[in-house]
Amino acid sequence: SERLTDKVAVVTGGASGIGEATVRKFVAEGAKVVIGDLNKERGQALAEELGDAAIFVAIDVTKASDWEEVKKQALEAFGTVDVLVNNAGISVAQSLLTMTEEQYRKILEINQVSVFLGMQKIAPIMIEKGAGSIINTSSINGLKAGAIGYTDSKFAVRGMTKAASAELAPQGVRVNSIHPGIIETPMTMEGDAVEQIKAYTNFVPMRRMAQAEEVANLMLYLASDESSYSTGSEFIVDGGLTQ
Ligand code: NAD
Repeated sequence: SERLTDKVAVVTGGASGIGEATVRKFVAEGAKVVIGDLNKERGQALAEELGDAAIFVAIDVTKASDWEEVKKQALEAFGTVDVLVNNAGISVAQSLLTMTEEQYRKILEINQVSVFLGMQKIAPIMIEKGAGSIINTSSINGLKAGAIGYTDSKFAVRGMTKAASAELAPQGVRVNSIHPGIIETPMTMEGDAVEQIKAYTNFVPMRRMAQAEEVANLMLYLASDESSYSTGSEFIVDGGLTQ
């Protein structure tokens, strides 16, 4: 039987990589999905492919007004929101001494401030019905240092998840963070650091990267009622890397 029947989900960064795999998994399990992404071409094509089960909303997750639009369109199309996946993100391969202030502020806006905005705009819908699940995509770099900026933003996502979970738990809304290791997506395979990432895979006890679907399977668990007693928790999917 389907694990997300009658649930409505918003997935940011839903046009690519982990987000796209999550959108596909959720739809396969009976959900209706709002795909939120900057990338109009890919987002629209995916929504068309999925038919009545999905809509695409072109958004920049750093803009509060775009979150208003997501909320409006989700309610118009599907009547509610049960699941919010704050997944859009970027990585910037820089060091403390080379990163510009502009690059630094940009990564914090996209990876961190966006999660605050998304939770603040969408949680009220969940509070009103006394149920909901929010999943924030952090990283193993939210547990263990990696590049400057990226690490900072992902530690913040982990912290915000806990603060929000404590506030929202009495109202029936769960908030958890996920911590992927090395996942084969456009972010890792089409970025500047592809050779370093491939080399780093040798340190993974399982000796391979993950496919995005292996992260989507965790998203599915956290989106469904099967995870009903988990909130404020960290879910690692990294082939044993951070143990
Ligand atoms: P990806 O680059 O394949 O997809 C990211 C998506 O986010 C893209 O479709 C992009 O258009 C969208 N996006 C970027 N900025 C946006 C903005 N301002 N507004 C709206 N959409 C925006 O990346 P991915 O590998 O699937 O990463 C997804 C998430 O997982 C990110 O938060 C990333 O940090 C995290 N993560 C990835 C890995 C990995 O190895 N790939 C590991 C740990 C964590």
